Amino acid sequence: MSKPNPPTLDVRDIEVQYGPFRAIFGVSFSIGRGTTVALLGPNGAGKSTIARTISGLVRPSKGSIIFDSTDISRTSAWKIARLGITQVPEGRGIFSSLSVSENLQLALRCQSSKSQVASLLNQAYETFPRLGERALQLAGTLSGGEQRILALARVLLIPPKLLIVDEMSLGLAPVIVDEVFAGLSAIKELGTSILLIEQHVNRALEFADQAVVLSKGEVILAGPVSELGDMDRILIPGKREG
Ligand code: ATP
Repeated sequence: MSKPNPPTLDVRDIEVQYGPFRAIFGVSFSIGRGTTVALLGPNGAGKSTIARTISGLVRPSKGSIIFDSTDISRTSAWKIARLGITQVPEGRGIFSSLSVSENLQLALRCQSSKSQVASLLNQAYETFPRLGERALQLAGTLSGGEQRILALARVLLIPPKLLIVDEMSLGLAPVIVDEVFAGLSAIKELGTSILLIEQHVNRALEFADQAVVLSKGEVILAGPVSELGDMDRILIPGKREG
């Protein structure tokens, strides 16, 4: 009998400390290939800490993080990025003094043929028409929401194995939030696994396959979204939007 595929990411019993303060207590979860896990919980629950720990910006004091069968819990952030984990909105920055089109072309600098670059750019503009309309505009003059869309378009051009999305739609107009989710869908279709931290809980649950709910640095609920039932019981009503 053939073995099932190992998950893209396996977080095993990690603890994270900031000096004497322990933010994460024995958290474990995994993300299957091409699937999305929503990481939910109230403010201060530890969602961003987990995102930063996976990206290598913070080290766990205990436990391990296995990415593509390799333990990355002691690997530097730049090596983790090279292995195929991208975090947005941080991570791959955009260049303010370059145009939208130049930013996208820079992401494609390793593509060999001009026709390949042109076809990928067209695909990006089809997914994000707003960027097509602003192709010649300097990225630094885009609105905050448009800059996030540009960052997503760069991810779409070179899809990572794992995309960590930490509050991408925070403070954005609903129409831009729709574009963010359309972009995430396009990236997911390319086979990228996604860890989604999102204040619009209902949107996150519509998009995700699995959810992990944190409270005070611990997992209090985890499983397929379809089996989790009514989240009102668990999540703070004020955080439940969208
Ligand atoms: P939010 O939804 O508000 O962003 P979160 O679930 O992402 O919250 P974290 O930002 O991971 O939570 O914070 C978890 C805990 O760790 C909080 O108590 C926070 O104050 C603490 N914390 C986060 N970053 C640091 C830091 N650099 N130094 C010390 N404590 C920190």
